[in-house]
Amino acid sequence: MANKTILEDCDILVVGGGMAGTGAAFEARHWGRDLKIICVEKANIDRSGAVAQGLYAINCYMGMQWGENQPEDHVRYARNDLMGLVREDLGYDMARHVDSTVHMFDEWGLPMMKNKETGRYQREGKWQIMIHGESYKPIVAEAAKKSADKIYNRVMITHLLMDEVNENRVGGAVGFNMRTGDYHVFRAKTVIVAAGGASHIFKPRAVGEGMGRTWYAPWSNGSAYALPIAVGAKMTQMENRIVLCRFKDGYGPVGAYFLHLKTYTQNANGENYEKKWYDKTKELVGEYIDHHPTPTCLRNHAFIQEVMAGGGPIHMVTKEAFQDPHLETVGWENFLGMTVGQAVVWASQNIDPKYTNPELTTSEPYVMGSHATCSGAWVSGPEDISPPEYFWGYNRMTTVEGLFGAGDTVGGSAHKFSSGSFTEGRLAAKAAVKYIEEKKAKDIKVSDEQCEDFKKIIFKPLENYTVGRNEITGGTVSPSYILPIQGLQRLQKIMDEYVGGISYNYMTNENTLKRGLELLEWLQEDLEKVGAEDYHQLMRAWELKHRTLTSQCVTEHTLFRQETRWPGYYYRGDYMKLDDENWHCLTLSRRDPKTGKFKMEKAPVYHIVDDKEEKKAS
Ligand SMILES: Cc1cc2nc3c(=O)[nH]c(=O)nc-3n(C[C@H](O)[C@H](O)[C@H](O)COP(=O)(O)OP(=O)(O)OC[C@H]3O[C@@H](n4cnc5c(N)ncnc54)[C@H](O)[C@@H]3O)c2cc1C
Repeated sequence: MANKTILEDCDILVVGGGMAGTGAAFEARHWGRDLKIICVEKANIDRSGAVAQGLYAINCYMGMQWGENQPEDHVRYARNDLMGLVREDLGYDMARHVDSTVHMFDEWGLPMMKNKETGRYQREGKWQIMIHGESYKPIVAEAAKKSADKIYNRVMITHLLMDEVNENRVGGAVGFNMRTGDYHVFRAKTVIVAAGGASHIFKPRAVGEGMGRTWYAPWSNGSAYALPIAVGAKMTQMENRIVLCRFKDGYGPVGAYFLHLKTYTQNANGENYEKKWYDKTKELVGEYIDHHPTPTCLRNHAFIQEVMAGGGPIHMVTKEAFQDPHLETVGWENFLGMTVGQAVVWASQNIDPKYTNPELTTSEPYVMGSHATCSGAWVSGPEDISPPEYFWGYNRMTTVEGLFGAGDTVGGSAHKFSSGSFTEGRLAAKAAVKYIEEKKAKDIKVSDEQCEDFKKIIFKPLENYTVGRNEITGGTVSPSYILPIQGLQRLQKIMDEYVGGISYNYMTNENTLKRGLELLEWLQEDLEKVGAEDYHQLMRAWELKHRTLTSQCVTEHTLFRQETRWPGYYYRGDYMKLDDENWHCLTLSRRDPKTGKFKMEKAPVYHIVDDKEEKKAS
């Protein structure tokens, strides 16, 4: 085959150089001075991942030095928001370390806003601090570049290599450079997957020429899930997809608006619609509706019900706050720092928020592990606080030996955001170094044959295209291959219509899920025939394959959990109520790499932090 093979042997391989990946590369060097550390990034590490464009707030900072919050408070907050179901050991572990991460960002030159009166970081809300964050990603990238032996940009990892002696131990990863077509083999003692979440598995609201306009980064394609799923790692809470309530069409953030500008929402008649849905929501979820703050999904639920009842459009009331010139500046800067597109949308739609209250919308669902949601890999927690079922030797190691996760990759630990994801990368890297030091990576065998086999598999879509296009006598449609965009639209249609997307108001049930699984299986079969006309399309082909595997896992989990735990994220029409008696548990799946079949089980939720949740005074 013409594609050159480039081989690297290393100790720690970091897949994905976003927030978690840069944290992992940085910390790996701290503990592993003599280790060979490589970071592989699909884009360019300087501007990659969900933080590529910058952020205006660091959403996870305890402020322990000033007694603002303690890690226990964060556990209570995340548990409340996720309707009781989180891995408290993971959340606690992240929270107790996250402040040190933020202090480093400050030292590295990230412009932090300060409260002039107190001298502390300027709070946007209880957990968020405000930054001038356009340069956030290049700053953390610099730390990673100075730490790693090598950063490979524009290389997409498509498969993990496995040890041929111990079949449940990782041996590295392979991928290709989407500019040169070089085939990359990384034989590694440990692999830390930090490849972000998954957008575009459900049909987006913006289609056609606007298709890339989603809330979640359009280039996040679920590699974080597909890579571990493919080698038989256990996954958790994959049904817990997230739906975001954001400014319409531009998906501009609402956090600073709600928290700092104190704007609020209302229906088309100027009413507070959330109150209207209180009784009906209580019938579905019981006392969870009385928790404070109201869980994110339940606020979505009121929005969705109100729109279905004809009360839309829903508006954010900005006209009052924007009369204050300072708040007006903050409102606009918020977009300039992280979502310029929203300002452009408003300009193009003649919306000046000082005079017009802009519309909000609920997004299509996304899969991620670091926001108000916690889908991802089932990993070991830290040894000092994790109960035995949650601990198997190395912090953040998946159920595959030597394979670690961080950030969106890791399930069960919500509300990490950018700082928490970086922190989790650090925790995973420290444990990976220990794993190597304790000789757990000795004598891994990865044969040339295994690597050569993957090479054939990876480049096959190019061959499918080259051979198949000869059969075209007119137009562009070949009887022998499907193009990545065609496959993507087919995937999105299946997920949208059968697994609870926007067209069905997030509704699904056992029958539709089973049909969805059938259609996904046939899509998987057809993806053997995906055709790529160049290396960029080859990347699209592999992104699609990763998205499809992720989608299968999401669908299996959604089928397994027979309740509606998070109304506002999705609804099981056949089990509309939250059911704490049977489903106050985490869901786990494992896909058998040989048969491709998923096996589901329940795992206990341990509440290791006491319950001091505030209840709303009704
Ligand atoms: C729209 C939006 C707004 C947000 N706002 C805030 C905020 O205001 N404050 C805050 O603190 N947090 C915010 N977050 C959360 C924060 O961005 C994430 O928690 C964090 O980026 C997750 O880190 P990660 O490393 O898991 O993923 P990412 O940072 O997305 O990094 C994943 C990386 O993996 C790479 N990659 C993917 N697949 C492959 C592959 N196969 N091979 C090689 N590389 C690959 C990607 O290119 C990317 O660089 C926001 C997130 C989103 C999506």
